[in-house]
Amino acid sequence: MISMILDFFKKTIPAPLVFTVFFGVLIGTAFGLSIPHIFVTNFERVSTYEEVAASSMVEEALRFTGSSSLEEAGFSYVTLPGIQKYDGPRLAQSMPIGTKETWLSWMSRNRSDDPVFLDQRWDWAQDLVISSELKRPEDVRAFLLTPREHFVRAANKGLEYADTWLPIGYGATITDPDVVSMMTTTLNVQPGDKVLEIGTGSGYQAAILSYLTRDVYTIEIIRPLYVETDALYTELEKNFPSYSVINRKLGDGYYGWEEFAPFNKIIVTCSIDHIPPPLLRQLKPGGIMVLPLGPPNRQYIMEIVKHEAEDGSITLSRRDVYNGQSVKFIPFRDDAGASYSTPVPDEI
Ligand code: SAH
Repeated sequence: MISMILDFFKKTIPAPLVFTVFFGVLIGTAFGLSIPHIFVTNFERVSTYEEVAASSMVEEALRFTGSSSLEEAGFSYVTLPGIQKYDGPRLAQSMPIGTKETWLSWMSRNRSDDPVFLDQRWDWAQDLVISSELKRPEDVRAFLLTPREHFVRAANKGLEYADTWLPIGYGATITDPDVVSMMTTTLNVQPGDKVLEIGTGSGYQAAILSYLTRDVYTIEIIRPLYVETDALYTELEKNFPSYSVINRKLGDGYYGWEEFAPFNKIIVTCSIDHIPPPLLRQLKPGGIMVLPLGPPNRQYIMEIVKHEAEDGSITLSRRDVYNGQSVKFIPFRDDAGASYSTPVPDEI
């Protein structure tokens, strides 16, 4: 039957036409796949809001949904550039880190970073290794490649490599480098891991992650901060192409990012007194979640490993990575700005 159909086509359709159609489909498919911002059902998977707003898809979407505005039509702020899959881990592996001189000379040949910051960055990363906050060579490489100077906001110029957290506006902070190191080391990211970060903030943590794997997802709840950091990544991508793998979204990270779940690793960078159940569900069995867990006034950086038994039952193992020493993160909050943690008694 099939051969009869094929014979029919062979006889009736001229060969040049078959070739044209075949290559047309091939090229069309390749082109379609190469467009990072593909429009799919429910209008979730779109580009940045600005790009959508500027595109001709808008009219079509509004007509289709019968809505008068993009937001009413269910568009969300989402940037999904990750399809480009730039290989940050490979770049990191190819970088020599034997001595400061060889590293500096490689950086000056391969990157456009300001030499003043390179010098500071090397010494600072050595300190993080000495204090054992950076344990794995992969993480040292990621820290050496990430230009913190672009993520610390303008008001804090001069403190780019200071050992402290800094305000980034909107009540948010860029976490202090030793805690970023400890959390990154604990996450034990492998190339190919799908990693979700809750709390994009300055964008620094996700930038580090982009040198450890090519599959990074990050969610921020504060709209102007999201817009600012999204634009920063887009600008930096020209010189730092690994940021093109950072998929970002404006939304409430309490509910994770269902569409791309499950994740091998989840890092939460805002404080909460319980593990958000949706995040636990979206963690792969064997996966690791790192989060600042505790009441509003102090937290402990916990490493949570999810285990699934043969009968499907789930157990968790927990480790306090600072062994009793507390930290203080800004609160994990909902859309209305209320903390997800129960207030401590003297705050009630
Ligand atoms: N990882 C950031 C740290 C930012 S501070 C960095 O490297 O700079 C914590 C961030 O968590 C803040 O930007 C805050 O707005 C964000 N946040 C708080 N609650 C959130 C939620 N429900 N969903 C997503 N982000 C949240």
